[in-house]
Amino acid sequence: MAFEDDHSDYNALDDDAFRQLVRRFLAKHHPPELRHPAKRLHWHEAKPWYMLLSRAGWLAPAWPREHGGMGLPAAKHLIYLDEFETFGAARTPDHGIILLGPLLINFGSDEQKLQFLPRILSGEDIWCQGYSEPDAGSDLASLRTEAVLDGDEWVVNGQKIWTTLAGDADWIFCLVRTDKSGKKQDGISFLLIPMGTPGITVKPIVNIEMDDEFCEVFFDDVRVPKGNIVGKINQGWSMAKALLGFERIFLGSPRQASNALAKLRRLGEFYGLTKDIAFVGRYAAFQMDLDDHQCLFGQVADQLRQGRALGPEVSLLKLNQSNLYQRITEYGLEIMGSDAGLLHPLDGNRDLAMAGQFLNARAATIYGGTSQVQKNILAKTLLGLT
Ligand SMILES: Cc1cc2nc3c(=O)[nH]c(=O)nc-3n(C[C@H](O)[C@H](O)[C@H](O)COP(=O)(O)OP(=O)(O)OC[C@H]3O[C@@H](n4cnc5c(N)ncnc54)[C@H](O)[C@@H]3O)c2cc1C
Repeated sequence: MAFEDDHSDYNALDDDAFRQLVRRFLAKHHPPELRHPAKRLHWHEAKPWYMLLSRAGWLAPAWPREHGGMGLPAAKHLIYLDEFETFGAARTPDHGIILLGPLLINFGSDEQKLQFLPRILSGEDIWCQGYSEPDAGSDLASLRTEAVLDGDEWVVNGQKIWTTLAGDADWIFCLVRTDKSGKKQDGISFLLIPMGTPGITVKPIVNIEMDDEFCEVFFDDVRVPKGNIVGKINQGWSMAKALLGFERIFLGSPRQASNALAKLRRLGEFYGLTKDIAFVGRYAAFQMDLDDHQCLFGQVADQLRQGRALGPEVSLLKLNQSNLYQRITEYGLEIMGSDAGLLHPLDGNRDLAMAGQFLNARAATIYGGTSQVQKNILAKTLLGLT
């Protein structure tokens, strides 16, 4: 398929022209049946959209051009996210794009970059994230899944939990314990494991939306080549922390709140509330909160692009965004009255559904580090409280 909107140098466009380009792209290419999905899509559902983005070179807005990304600076990345969300574009299985890609670009060997990055962009490898364990969520450094070196292979035993879309994934990037002798943070390594390896069992967990979005993953004597470690052995913790930084940047981006606010507006129109002073007041307050948030996000994203280390501001981003997302979806249900419990769109209009997003927003203050954990980080690092 030819992409007449293709523009090899997005940065030569001014922001308005870029926004129009993104709008045209979405209007023309996004599969209509995937707009505003009520739940996180599985790979078989999202694949056509992923592959279309891949062919257009639009999958990885933040990756540098030399690695196949769009190389967008913060302002344009924000426009990209904003337009995707306002349009209701479907989120694809994106752990490879958002999490592993930036990690490999920063810490991977040249061989690893060559082996993995193109296959993420081509949709040949779909990744999932194996961090959390039954007794190691917020206290991630307590993880016990163990990898023991046996000749040229690691032998992995243990269990991960809450692994999003693990059943769809070809690979999992895992934090594993490779040394139990010292401080717990010092004995952790970052290991890449093919999901098809004998000894891996995936068990789906049904979530609040009655969907099997995440899973338990069990490892029984799973043998993995020695070279699948990223970075140095026992030094996975610092990379994992960097990855959590990338994750919090993504989760702290205004996309979810922006999407929910666009929907709130349409719901207001649907229920004839656009002249109702209470609705207009609440809507305007949300819009101002979103504008503030976009400003903060732009600053942090710029900092990342300039190669400066991410500070505790990423925790502020994640905390603020998830809180705003929840507040908007809560108000959306309030104005829907007796329609609030409907998981399917009103009048068959995909723009008019809030219940799925309301449920989805519950999880936003948990994944990627809970709100309490973000507050602890901010209390220690910004406020100097111990
Ligand atoms: C939708 C969803 C998708 C997810 N996807 C993935 C995934 O793909 N891969 C993955 O590895 N993980 C994933 N997770 C797991 C997620 O990272 C963890 O749920 C999260 O880190 C919290 O850990 P926990 O569930 O073990 O809760 P716990 O750490 O047991 O926390 C329970 C409660 O105690 C509070 N708490 C804990 N410690 C403190 C403290 N020190 N101070 C104050 N309060 C505290 C927490 O805030 C929380 O309210 C996902 C979670 C969700 C909800």
